[in-house]
Amino acid sequence: MITVENLIGGKFSTTDLSLVDRSPSDGSIIASIPRTKSIDDAVEAANDAFESWSALSLNERADWLDKIANALESKSDELARLEALDTGKPLDVALNIDAKRSILNFRFFADFGRNMPAETFEMENATNFVIRKPVGIVGLISPWNLPLYLLSWKIAPALLMGNCIIAKPSEITPLTAHFLAQVCTEIGLPAGVLNIVHGLGPEVGHAIVSHPRIRAISFTGGTSTGRMVAATAAPMFKKLSLELGGKNASIVLEDADLEITIPGVVRASFLNSGQICLCGSKVLVHEDIYEEFIPLYLKAVADFNIGPVISEEHAQKVLSYIELAKQEGGEILAGGNRSNRLGAWIEPTVIAGLSHLSRTASEEIFGPVVTIHKFSTDEEALDMANCTEYGLAGSVWSKTRGMEVAKRVESGMVWVNTWLHRDLRVPFGGIKNSGVGREGGMWSIGFFSEAINICQMQH
Ligand code: NAD
Repeated sequence: MITVENLIGGKFSTTDLSLVDRSPSDGSIIASIPRTKSIDDAVEAANDAFESWSALSLNERADWLDKIANALESKSDELARLEALDTGKPLDVALNIDAKRSILNFRFFADFGRNMPAETFEMENATNFVIRKPVGIVGLISPWNLPLYLLSWKIAPALLMGNCIIAKPSEITPLTAHFLAQVCTEIGLPAGVLNIVHGLGPEVGHAIVSHPRIRAISFTGGTSTGRMVAATAAPMFKKLSLELGGKNASIVLEDADLEITIPGVVRASFLNSGQICLCGSKVLVHEDIYEEFIPLYLKAVADFNIGPVISEEHAQKVLSYIELAKQEGGEILAGGNRSNRLGAWIEPTVIAGLSHLSRTASEEIFGPVVTIHKFSTDEEALDMANCTEYGLAGSVWSKTRGMEVAKRVESGMVWVNTWLHRDLRVPFGGIKNSGVGREGGMWSIGFFSEAINICQMQH
């Protein structure tokens, strides 16, 4: 049993009340975590640390990011073990996706910071110098699906730009944030620069969002939670980045190369048990290749290794969508049931025969459930892809027309003949109800800094 603690001002502490963290694989209790309600001491600690942290040069802070990356890398097996324990995902996924990317986030922003070009704009008789100042104390709130991967994606650029942090990981997956806190303490990251507080969203999460001394909120989570976060933070004129839900389509055109398309679309459907905001949970297949596609896809689904979903509560939600799909007239082509194991295991489920306007095909399920639809023209495929309130991601599979169709998908990110192929310099984020703002490369730098212009006249 692990005791997760808050990290505040360089010291570990618990609270009088605690929460339990359960294994999704078998339901057993694996950790106790603090149930924090007030963040005043964390804000105080961040405030005390701010002056000296923000006074370091960009290169000095980049060196700290590299130190964190090196320390995490030297313990990446332990990091992956904790992530797999907390989320139930297969160990190789935790190692090759979660641990690898968490380390890379720190390394990437260290390099990015060192190589950032000076932003100057010459006029005939003056020069404009764009100076990037830290925002101040920033609040970072993250979900359970890719725990340290997503939290470190916020922590690294926030630290780089000289901010001090109050971070709140999901209460469902607190282990690797605690691990990061221990690593940062071991390497001597100055006290108060990174504070990590644990607890429930409506309690400690809300305390972060509503605290007047916190000047920016970077939030990743569900659209309905994001709406509440925005309602609280916007009237306080906080900077706000919202990375929210999605209902993404994988569009398979008639000329798709099935050798790459089948494994690619299966991965987009079921990686992390379908619990990635970018997952393609709506598979649209051209009628000319539909009959050929289905058996190949189902065979590849049967061979794909997935873990349980995150919790019993989430399993119930996912199963209720499978029931809904049956009521809506869907035909279950694969799965459809709990697996015969202890814990929150659900078979990879493929459903055909539903309207793309059905609830099952329009709402975010965030589990191993995919609907398949047949189309006859590009226009029809795009209508099916775009008819949702979300606009996060998508993929198009075609030998010749991928780019053409991709430009017409209404979402922040589209892949052609691949999925989740990430360059950390590019903008990441959604349109419509999938979010506000972008993260990644210069977009993260922009969010975690205040760009100030100084115009110097030449006389
Ligand atoms: P969630 O919205 O329930 O929780 C996210 C975080 O917000 C958690 O840390 C939670 O404790 C906190 N929270 C909850 N209520 C809060 C409140 N009132 N004030 C402040 N914080 C609060 O989401 P989840 O179930 O953890 O994650 C799944 C969702 O996240 C899915 O909708 C998924 O699409 C989305 N997601 C989006 C992205 C993206 O980049 N767009 C990435 C991953 C996950």
